[in-house]
Amino acid sequence: EPFPIEFIGSVIKGFGRGSKELGIPTANVSPRVIPRALQEMLSGVYFGWARVINDRKEDSEVFPMCMSLGYNPFYNNKTRSAEVHIMHKFEDDFYGKELRAVVLGFIRTEQDYPGLDELIQDIQTDIMVTERSLAREAYQSYKYDDFLLK
Ligand code: ADP
Ligand code: MG
Repeated sequence: EPFPIEFIGSVIKGFGRGSKELGIPTANVSPRVIPRALQEMLSGVYFGWARVINDRKEDSEVFPMCMSLGYNPFYNNKTRSAEVHIMHKFEDDFYGKELRAVVLGFIRTEQDYPGLDELIQDIQTDIMVTERSLAREAYQSYKYDDFLLK
């Protein structure tokens, strides 16, 4: 098992496909800084912890996250793109900020959906799985990982 996998990236603009309007914003992380370990991982949804380096203290803590990892046509299908949904209500957007993450487990492979409702339902399931998984003692300790708090 490759976990935990740690990475740092800067948050870039995505396609603005309206994830935020659905209540599930995904911070797109610049693919340049995605480590080799992530490049070799299966496409799909993962869970772990994330932190955004932010001026506002309340928004700079370590929070649960789920991450979708896939090939992005924008980058010629050769590079992975990672999109991270953080389970916290942020005061402001954080484009350009540094995001640190520890990936701890795999939830599911990528799916095609007949419609938006099915997609949203599956994401709600991902969020529930993330919260329940991270509640386990073995995963709790990673919340205080030096890497995240640096
Ligand atoms: P984009 O297509 O630019 O990625 P999204 O609709 O997916 O737009 O929204 C993502 C942006 O929303 C992030 O880059 C970040 O600045 C902001 N954001 C606010 N709250 C969150 C959150 N809880 N998780 C992830 N991103 C968030
Ligand atoms: Mg996004």
